[in-house]
Amino acid sequence: MRWLHLLPALAVATAACSPAIRPLGPITPVRVHESELPEPPAESPPPAAPLAFSDEEYLRARSLMVPVDGVRPEKVADTYWQDRDGGARTHQALDILAARGTPVLSADSGTVLRLTKNTLGGITIYATDPERRFVFYYAHLDHYAKGLYEGKLIAQGEVIGYVGTTGNAPKNTPHLHFQVMRLVDVRQWWNGPPVDPRPFLTQLGAPAGTSRSTAVVPDPPRR
Ligand SMILES: [Zn+2]
Repeated sequence: MRWLHLLPALAVATAACSPAIRPLGPITPVRVHESELPEPPAESPPPAAPLAFSDEEYLRARSLMVPVDGVRPEKVADTYWQDRDGGARTHQALDILAARGTPVLSADSGTVLRLTKNTLGGITIYATDPERRFVFYYAHLDHYAKGLYEGKLIAQGEVIGYVGTTGNAPKNTPHLHFQVMRLVDVRQWWNGPPVDPRPFLTQLGAPAGTSRSTAVVPDPPRR
């Protein structure tokens, strides 16, 4: 019962944290019966959710590397919205032209998810970023890098394969088919909504461990 005498002091402390709209009047002790006190919440309020680092911000912060040795970001052609199958679908990937045998580099550090072959993509790699928010798909490879395996942790710029024409790529046009997808449903991790990677490719393709690998290509000035 004695703690009820503290109520006026508590009222002052609470009011002090509120915006001062008008001067506080004199405090008159209020006699409150215990039965009139409001019930405290049954549980502590949930902590405020941490600010979500959006996928887009995340991908920008990853500063992806052009996944073909020697190719600068500004040289990657916009093939994302090209029609395919007579307009039945859009490409939703980038075709990066390069000589057969050019090293294919990991666009980000992460993990190799699958090494697999299919009719369209030929020899392919699925890999992911460190937080497994995105899946990177590399297709039409001539062959894999030596020692690559599913589950391998890879560094950004690590050589993972070589440009080729396997699958349905024209035999006279070696290129890397590079697709980025959001990993939304792990049960269909290969089939997430695609993202145009071009705005996120900021680093020159340079094998990890070479002096060029740390060169970040700055954005051109906006005009
Ligand atoms: Zn393609």
